[in-house]
Amino acid sequence: MIKVLYPGSFDPITYGHMNIIEQACNLFDEVVVAVMHNSMKTGMFSTEEKVKLIEQLYKDNPKVHVVSSTGATIDLALKFNCKAIIRGLRTLSDFEYEIQLSQINKQLSQNRVNTISLFAESNLEHISSSMVKEILSLDKDISGYVDPIVEKAMKDKFKN
Ligand code: ADP
Repeated sequence: MIKVLYPGSFDPITYGHMNIIEQACNLFDEVVVAVMHNSMKTGMFSTEEKVKLIEQLYKDNPKVHVVSSTGATIDLALKFNCKAIIRGLRTLSDFEYEIQLSQINKQLSQNRVNTISLFAESNLEHISSSMVKEILSLDKDISGYVDPIVEKAMKDKFKN
């Protein structure tokens, strides 16, 4: 039984994130999606709202579990007995950052937790939460980037 952790800010979850989750589900037995709370960043959605959205999307997928944390990713991986941390790679700059992060997490866990990088399908790899928020703020169509549940939540948020 191999469990992995997929951490991120998910503000909000996009089809890019969902493609990484789908790949992880095909490879492993359980995927713990962790909404990481960063007190330095105020997002569009609260941590609780982000968790609820992801739970709704995966309510019929028993392999996906959603948690949230204010602490270190590595502590969460150890707490949930995850063998690896999943990260999605988009750009070369992602790669440079991720390689450092993976080395740190490996050291902090005394080699117990490795990082696995996955690539989204090419038509999805350019999608980022911040880009989708910007497109919505310009009153353009975001239906190609997020699930209808997320689109509705974003539009409701935006109106207020
Ligand atoms: P963002 O940088 O968009 O705020 P998150 O922190 O929510 O991203 O992302 C969590 C993880 O998912 C990170 O490893 C990030 O690189 C990855 N990811 C996000 N969007 C994509 C995408 N379109 N394709 C591949 N990986 C992605």
